[in-house]
Amino acid sequence: MKRDAIAVLNAGSSSIKFSLFAHDGGELALALHGQVEGIHTVPRFAAKNAAGQTVSTHAWPEGTRLGHEDALEHIVAFVRGHPQGMQLVGLGHRVVHGGPKYTQPVRVDRQVLADLEEFVALAPLHQPHNLEPIWLTLERRPELPQVACFDTAFHRVQPELAQMFALPMELHDAGVRRYGFHGLSYEYIASVLPQLDPAAAAGRTVVLHLGNGASMCALAGGRSVASTMGFSAVDGLPMGTRSGALDPGVILYLMDQRGMDARAIEKLIYSQSGLLGVSGVSSDMRELLASAEPRAALAVDLYVYRIGRELGSLAAALGGLDAIVFTGGIGENSADIRARVCRDAAWLGVALDEQANRRGEQRISSGASKTAAYAVRTNEELMIAMHAWRLLA
Ligand code: ADP
Repeated sequence: MKRDAIAVLNAGSSSIKFSLFAHDGGELALALHGQVEGIHTVPRFAAKNAAGQTVSTHAWPEGTRLGHEDALEHIVAFVRGHPQGMQLVGLGHRVVHGGPKYTQPVRVDRQVLADLEEFVALAPLHQPHNLEPIWLTLERRPELPQVACFDTAFHRVQPELAQMFALPMELHDAGVRRYGFHGLSYEYIASVLPQLDPAAAAGRTVVLHLGNGASMCALAGGRSVASTMGFSAVDGLPMGTRSGALDPGVILYLMDQRGMDARAIEKLIYSQSGLLGVSGVSSDMRELLASAEPRAALAVDLYVYRIGRELGSLAAALGGLDAIVFTGGIGENSADIRARVCRDAAWLGVALDEQANRRGEQRISSGASKTAAYAVRTNEELMIAMHAWRLLA
């Protein structure tokens, strides 16, 4: 008997990541994962099994114009050639924007896809890439069920006020509102928190998703009540190359005084700012922490400072704080950044256990800490596979 399997796709501007989960004994277990990277530059493919062993690699000659369609073809051919007693029963996709309409994952048909195309205007840098593999699959294998899971959906239960800008209501009604992102990561953390800390899971927690993209989310009883990202994924914290929150007056100044148009400003605030812009060295936290360049230290200082400010804001939205949880590449791996954030959060009752933090344990606050602190590896892919499985069952 073949085991049913769900493939998860996360298609970005320059890469398509995939994971294959097999249904086994009532659980979804990771069987294979990998990616095609450098789609428009130096394309390369690698896949690993669940034990982390590389099972396949491929490199295309430099200058190959691969594109998303061919990248997807390569992944599909690989998955088909590695059945390992599995049969593919569905595809789950990470889609950045579900707009005001999609508050849950959804099984995709042409109507849904047409709706999702409308949200391209809300996330022009990400949404088209997310949707492309869905269109391609719909055309080539219409019988294969597909499920779209949204980074915005988890936040749709936020109170109305948390989703509003103080703009004329006509704009709110037209969709200009705070959506919040990284929802699949927060949903995963909220799903494991009850085992980790039942009191915090039932109470007030701030999750810090610190990766190349970064945001923070306030959870009350496991539900999102506020987040640092708003209308777009450029809001909130400074990130690898994104500015984070800006005074809107800065945008007007850039237009009036620097003659910059929307595309030039987009490039500035999405690709040339954040850790990269301030440091002038790198967008990569590891490189900044290892650098002797004063501006690298300044970029890290600003990053930690802004996290502290947002933590205060989210704690206010929650009316107090029972726990904080670090996740994402930086949150999971950088003991330095965690330690600095926790020290700044002493006024909120966080007392760090330096040893536990250095050892990379899950609980990094001391026994006496009034507010608990954790570092937890996120798993957005598993969340997507679980949603797809549930919807297709
Ligand atoms: P993405 O948002 O693209 O999924 P990740 O969650 O993988 O990104 O996070 C990437 C970030 O994590 C990079 O800034 C990288 O430097 C940082 N990172 C990974 N490992 C470490 C580490 N050991 N120390 C500090 N930063 C790290």
